[in-house]
Amino acid sequence: MFKLNAERSDVTWDQALRAARPAVANALEKVLEGRDLDAADGLQLATVTSADLLALVKVADELRRRVVGDRITYVVNRNLNFTNVCIVGCAFCGFSRGPNSPDAYFHSPDKLVAKSVEAVEQGATEVCIQGGLPKDLNGYYYVDLLRAIKARLPQLHVHAFSPMEIDYGVEKTGMPLGEYLLMLREAGLNSIPGTAAEILDDDVRGLLSPNKLKVGRWIEIIRAAHGLGIPTTSTMMYGHIEQPEHWVRHMLLLREIQRETRGFTEFVPLGFVHYQTRLFQRGGARAGHSEHEDLIVHALARVLLNGYIPNIQVSWVKLGFSASLACMEAGANDFGGTLMEESISKAAGANFGEYVSPSEFRALIRRIGRIPAERTTTYQIRNVFEHPTVDEQLPERAIPIDMPILNTPEHHAAEPAIGY
Ligand code: SF4
Repeated sequence: MFKLNAERSDVTWDQALRAARPAVANALEKVLEGRDLDAADGLQLATVTSADLLALVKVADELRRRVVGDRITYVVNRNLNFTNVCIVGCAFCGFSRGPNSPDAYFHSPDKLVAKSVEAVEQGATEVCIQGGLPKDLNGYYYVDLLRAIKARLPQLHVHAFSPMEIDYGVEKTGMPLGEYLLMLREAGLNSIPGTAAEILDDDVRGLLSPNKLKVGRWIEIIRAAHGLGIPTTSTMMYGHIEQPEHWVRHMLLLREIQRETRGFTEFVPLGFVHYQTRLFQRGGARAGHSEHEDLIVHALARVLLNGYIPNIQVSWVKLGFSASLACMEAGANDFGGTLMEESISKAAGANFGEYVSPSEFRALIRRIGRIPAERTTTYQIRNVFEHPTVDEQLPERAIPIDMPILNTPEHHAAEPAIGY
C-alpha cells in the first residue's frame, strides 16, 4: 500500500483540515460548502505538501463519499487497436509505427468483429476502439467498422475514436463535423474517448505533439459530440513537461464545458509513462509521473470538478495497483476497464502481459474496505458485489509500469482497460 496513505489513514478529514495552512483550509472549506473553486484556489491546492497534502487527500475522499458513496466501479470491456501505423509523430508516444515497420499492422473490420464477438462471449459490455492515423486511411473506415460490429452485436456499447481520429475522418471525407459525427452515431457509435487531450494548452501541445489538433478543435469536437447526445470521457496526461498551473487550467476548462453540455461521463488522469518515448530520451520531460503527483492530481480533480463530473477514474495500467488504491482513497471512485485482450490471449495459450480478471479487481477493491460494482460505460450499475465471492483473489503479480500492454496508442491511453 502507498506509504503516504498507510501512515496517515487513521486521520479524519476534519482533523486533517485543522492541521492545514489557512489558505489551503479555506479553499477546502469552500468546496465542502458546495462552492466552486477558482484558479487561485486550484493553484494553491495543486502545489501542496505534507499536512496540506493530507488535508487535500482527506477532503477529496470525503467529497467522493458524499457524491458517489463507497462503491468502486469497473467496466468489463475489450480494447481493440486496429492499427499502429500513424503519421502524427507525438513525442510522447511509444506505440506508433511507420507503414513499412516489420511490426506494423492494420486489422480489417471482419477481424475486429470476430474480436468483439469473443469479448461478448467473455462478458464484455463494451469495446473500446482506437488506432493510429495512417496516411492512406479511408475516411469511411470508422463508419464501416461501426456498421460491421453493430450488424453482428447490436447491444454492444461501442466506445470509439478520439477527437484526433474524428478530426482525421472529417479531413479525409471532407464532410462537415456535425454531419460526420451524425453518420458515426447512426452507424452505432455510442460514446467517444475524450483522449488526445494531453494538456489542453497549445504551448505545451506544441512541444508534445505539434501535429496534433489544437485546443480549440478538441473543444469543438467534444462540444459537437455532446450536442448530438454522444457522451465522452475526459482525460489529462501529467508527469511530463507540464506544471501544476496547467493541471488547474485543464480541469477548469473541462468544468466549463461540462457546465454547458453535461456530456462528460468521467475524468481520467493519465500518468505519463516515459520509457521508450522520444520526449524523455531527448531530455525534454520528467521521468514520468511521481506518486506525489498521482495523489495531488486525483484529489485535485475531485475538488475542482465537484458538482460537475462525479466519476474520477484511475488508470491502473499506468499507476499500478498500489498507487491506484491510494488514489481511490484520494478522491477517485472508478477502476476503469478489465484487460479482456489479455484474458483472451491467455485463454488461447499466449504467455505475455498481465491478466487481471473482474474477480481480482474486486479483491483489490476490498483491500481498502470499499464495495465493488460492475457498471456499463455510462455508469449504470449492472451488479453490486456487497459480499466477497469465493473466486476473489488478489492478482499474483504487481503490474510493472513498463509492461508490454502499455504499448498502445497514447492518445487513447486512458480510460478502461489498456487505457486509452
Ligand atoms: S499518440 Fe496517437 S496520434 Fe500521436 S503518434 Fe501515437 S498513435 Fe499517433
